[in-house]
Amino acid sequence: MSELDWDIEDERIENLGPEVAWRYAIRAYEADDLNVAHSLAARFGGAWGGSLLGYYRQIEAEWTTRQANQSRDLGDGVSLEWPSDISPRIADGERIVRIVRDVSDRFRWQRQRRVRVAWLSPNVDAPWFGLRAGYYMNKTPFHKICVPGGLQSNETEMEAALAHEVAHAMIQERTLGNAPIWLHEAVAQVAEHRNINGVARTFRSDPTLWLDPEELSQAFGTDRRDAANFPGIGRAYAQAAYIGRWLAETHGEPALGQVLDAFSDNSFVENLRMRVTGQTAADEALRQVLKMGEREIFEACEP
Ligand SMILES: [Zn+2]
Repeated sequence: MSELDWDIEDERIENLGPEVAWRYAIRAYEADDLNVAHSLAARFGGAWGGSLLGYYRQIEAEWTTRQANQSRDLGDGVSLEWPSDISPRIADGERIVRIVRDVSDRFRWQRQRRVRVAWLSPNVDAPWFGLRAGYYMNKTPFHKICVPGGLQSNETEMEAALAHEVAHAMIQERTLGNAPIWLHEAVAQVAEHRNINGVARTFRSDPTLWLDPEELSQAFGTDRRDAANFPGIGRAYAQAAYIGRWLAETHGEPALGQVLDAFSDNSFVENLRMRVTGQTAADEALRQVLKMGEREIFEACEP
């Protein structure tokens, strides 16, 4: 079924250099062809540096779920797959569809692509980064949302994790992948109803902690395996959550949806002008819908 040429003989796999094998593994992973991705990853894992180890863990976690070969179409373009050590109840499936619909309705999202939710086994060492309870991957066949199956018994956390990752899928689809990370995390945390108690106090106590748009996006990219970076990453989520809440309260959630659509409605001339002037796609989309640019928004809502 794969559209790419995976039919590499075992012998040929052995002869692939680690870089080529890695590229194949990533392509297979993006196509959600997890058997191929995993066999390459497992064989060449040792050749990779630390930064790729996280990717390997991710492939391994999703592959472990796929091994159980259990999935169900939940209707409305949504499906669920689960590992052998947990079993979903009917209510779990209903909840997933309800959350996808709820996020779609709130932000007026006309979904174009299918959504696949995968529960990951509690026994797999998946990358939770110490801060988030799941992740979203843009795959060729569908939007894939991976959440720890262990959250099954914690309704509140499971719903928040699902809403957060569904929002990432929505943002990817509507902005054609052009949203900066700060906007991703702002909207995703509005979607999950993230609690922002105490956030204003933190930034008021030290105004130098309040980052500008580029700095804020970069702050999410620091190495999440290093515990020394946790406070900075935590503050980045907090600032994004605060800005997201401010935008939702001053303009409404449907307007945030319109901002996402405004990333991809530009004419050739507009795109050319943005490239010449160095205006970011986010700034253009925010001005178009909210009449405020990136920096103005960050200044206006700074506590
Ligand atoms: Zn997120």
